[in-house]
Amino acid sequence: SFKAILITRDDENRQSVATTELTEADLMDGDVTVAVEATTVNYKDGLAITGKAPVVRRFPMVPGVDFAGTVVASDHADWKAGDRVILNGWGTGETHFGAYAGRARVKGEWLVPLPTGLTPREAMAIGTAGYTAMLCAMALERYGVTPAAGPAIVTGAAGGVGSIAVSILSGLGFHVVASTGRMSEVGYLKDLGAAEVMAREELSGAVRPLGKERWACGVDSVGSHTLANVLSMTSYGGAIAACGLAGGMDLPATVAPFILRGVALLGVDSVMAPKPLRVEAWRRLAADLDRDKLAALTTSIGFDGIIDAARGIVEGKIRGRVVVEM
Ligand code: NAP
Repeated sequence: SFKAILITRDDENRQSVATTELTEADLMDGDVTVAVEATTVNYKDGLAITGKAPVVRRFPMVPGVDFAGTVVASDHADWKAGDRVILNGWGTGETHFGAYAGRARVKGEWLVPLPTGLTPREAMAIGTAGYTAMLCAMALERYGVTPAAGPAIVTGAAGGVGSIAVSILSGLGFHVVASTGRMSEVGYLKDLGAAEVMAREELSGAVRPLGKERWACGVDSVGSHTLANVLSMTSYGGAIAACGLAGGMDLPATVAPFILRGVALLGVDSVMAPKPLRVEAWRRLAADLDRDKLAALTTSIGFDGIIDAARGIVEGKIRGRVVVEM
């Protein structure tokens, strides 16, 4: 048997979470069984464990949208025992038993190989948040934005997606403007490569159709007023990659930035992203992400710390990324 976190729901639809023991017979259908070696706590895992948003769509559920580990059994042609793999998304922790267990059984097509040069721990320090930050950077590149066009804004900069986006964009040569509600983290953000730090309040207030042009591109993990203000301050022909809703799911914007400045809003999803895009994002992360910066933005916890970290992340109390060593 192995340790697992299980979310259950009672007759009155009240959700509760507990640590328990499961066996391989309890796992759901799949053609590959993986010994989970490292996992992480993303914002979505926080929503699932606290029940603050309806992330879990089947009960009981083992939460956890991300893991890295070693294949122990496989009926899938691409994988054999001993292979090192990563899983991000595909509904794990939502509709399929996820990462917070000693073993996971999943579909082989969901897995990507652990890139050479990354340990399972480093892969989970990156996790869905970091892989999404890279998908955002790649979306901006595909659109054709370069550092010569102007600065890059990163919102929710001290969070997981934000911290890795700051590291990636500064590594690519962008002048990064980091927006945060935690001005105590100015030093942290500058060490990750931010050229300027901006207070969250400057972007969370009333939205004007157009503001002063401040940046040519950006990565937004906050949504709501913040994204609307970011768009209104994006320079002519610029693009913003939107991936998050930490500040709200609404978008109280006008079309002015789109129709008067030709600004583009690029949507980024990591959960159902096709495999070739995932493999490329992980290749780029292994090749380009500065390991010293990754270490600086990572905090380690054990399995027993997952539930506390999940509560902390939805309260905006977690800085950077949390890795869970099993
Ligand atoms: P996180 O570590 O909690 O980061 C979120 C950050 O947003 C916080 O650290 C905080 O940054 C800022 N923030 C929180 N509440 C806010 C508020 N009310 N107003 C303004 N800013 C606020 O979470 P994460 O794991 O990086 O995820 C970030 C977001 O991206 C989440 O919404 C998550 O669901 C989403 N996401 C989406 C995908 C996808 O596939 N599209 C993948 C991964 C994540 P500061 O303290 O610096 O202000």
